Amino acid sequence: MTTNAGLKTRQSATQPLRTGAEFLAGLRRRKRKVIVDGEIISDPTAHPAFKQGARSIAALYDYAAAPENRAVMTFPSPVDGAPVLRAYQIPKTHADLRDKRIAAEKWAELTFGLMGRTPDHVAGFFNGFAAKPSVFAAGGEQYGRNVVAFYEHLRDTHAYVAYAIVPPQIDRSKPANLQDDPTLYAGVVKETDKGIYVSGAQQLATGGVYADYIHLSCIHPLRPGEENYALSLAVPTDAEGLRLYSRRAFAMQAVGKSADEYPLTARFDETDCMVVFDNVFVPWEHVFCYRNLEVCRDQWWKTPAHLYGNLQAQARYSVKLRFLLGLAKRMNEMTGNDAVPPVQVMMGELASYAAIVEGMLHSQEVLATHDEEGVLWPSKTALYSVMALQSEINPKMIDIVRELTGAGMITLPSSFKDLDNPETAKDIERFYRSNKTGAREKIKLMRLAWDFIGSEFGNRHQQYEKFYGGASFLVKMNMFRSFDFKSAGALVDNALNLPPIED
Ligand SMILES: Cc1cc2nc3c(=O)[nH]c(=O)nc-3n(C[C@H](O)[C@H](O)[C@H](O)COP(=O)(O)OP(=O)(O)OC[C@H]3O[C@@H](n4cnc5c(N)ncnc54)[C@H](O)[C@@H]3O)c2cc1C
Repeated sequence: MTTNAGLKTRQSATQPLRTGAEFLAGLRRRKRKVIVDGEIISDPTAHPAFKQGARSIAALYDYAAAPENRAVMTFPSPVDGAPVLRAYQIPKTHADLRDKRIAAEKWAELTFGLMGRTPDHVAGFFNGFAAKPSVFAAGGEQYGRNVVAFYEHLRDTHAYVAYAIVPPQIDRSKPANLQDDPTLYAGVVKETDKGIYVSGAQQLATGGVYADYIHLSCIHPLRPGEENYALSLAVPTDAEGLRLYSRRAFAMQAVGKSADEYPLTARFDETDCMVVFDNVFVPWEHVFCYRNLEVCRDQWWKTPAHLYGNLQAQARYSVKLRFLLGLAKRMNEMTGNDAVPPVQVMMGELASYAAIVEGMLHSQEVLATHDEEGVLWPSKTALYSVMALQSEINPKMIDIVRELTGAGMITLPSSFKDLDNPETAKDIERFYRSNKTGAREKIKLMRLAWDFIGSEFGNRHQQYEKFYGGASFLVKMNMFRSFDFKSAGALVDNALNLPPIED
């Protein structure tokens, strides 16, 4: 069977896992409309803005398909036992959750945690949706069946889904239906017996340029009158009428330069794009929630989707923090400050934050509980507490690294070309070295650090860590809803009812 995303569903247990080459071939084959620098392009693998990012995703598929990584990165498909990405495993036990976390960490290590919406992120959401089809069936039996069938299709084709679940910031003071044009925010504009038509925009799909599908929905609470926007559906990225408006492609800054100038920008710019739907047809089988305010809300909070997806996000973040610690330590060694006690205190503070994030990641597994249907839910409080603080600790950590490096990331030659010029190389070798290494190694490390922190790519990451899981006030509200205030209150009652003190 071939779906409208052009992905073949599994025919036999012997069909190999998707490789990087197949992923790249798919990107070339399924012509999409990506807008960048005034051009409309159809093949991201052929454009310098996206080429290396595509290769980085391809490397993830290759890693998972390598026989030596199969045990960690895959699990047997319940359909035929063939290996499928562990990212699509619906966890039934605590050990399953641990295995999923380890697989997410392995992929994150390949990008140093710098690609957030790798195929395992939205996979987590669909695992959570498929674990609770009753939530979707509340809007009509067929929607429960649709979401499970679509999840199985994703699992068995190793598909990559990006999502756009926040409306554009056009006028936040008014609901979608009261904007001056009611088709500004993505919503249904026509219905037929074959499917629906969607028009409007949704603000940001990270990785959308590379994905097989865009999941369109809305995580903002919707009010009566906004039914047309209360959708959950999937659209192939090459669907007629779909346009992906890329933000500035940071990877372009690295084009034509030595690979060491922007080592991270060059490889890991996953891109973010506004998704425009221009009368896009969606067959009913790809619709999971239709004009239903309650189901649209409940898919996030009455399924473990938000928890599974963000468990991956935290595994990725934890790897990134380990990378940050390694970078900071290496820079201190370079500058000769490593043994200075106040520097060690700052490193200890950095390490504390990283260890808290890692510890809370493990807590999500350890404190996971089964609901009455036997579905395993990672701990909400373990997830939301750390997500709520992320928007505060992340900038703090970046600031500590800036503090530690002084001018180290700035006092660098204009480019590696200055080292290649024999007339200037002598000075550079002499004055840009460290007590540990020659100039080239030191410059390479400092460039890496600057790309991580100070480049446009690095700065986008700070915005990402602040907002990828929603604005921090919303995450704190999740925490407010999840925390056990009852037992906290009971303690206060105990204190208020203490027996009198006897002499
Ligand atoms: C790099 C990056 C990648 C992203 N990737 C994705 C993606 O892949 N898919 C996706 O769907 N979305 C993605 N997002 C979007 C993200 O989900 C939203 O940016 C996020 O939900 C915040 O919404 P907003 O940007 O519309 O901010 P707004 O909702 O407009 O809020 C902006 C700020 O206004 C203030 N504010 C607004 N309302 C209130 C209130 N009621 N109470 C208190 N303060 C308030 C807060 O300070 C808030 O931070 C991404 C965002 C970034 C920055």
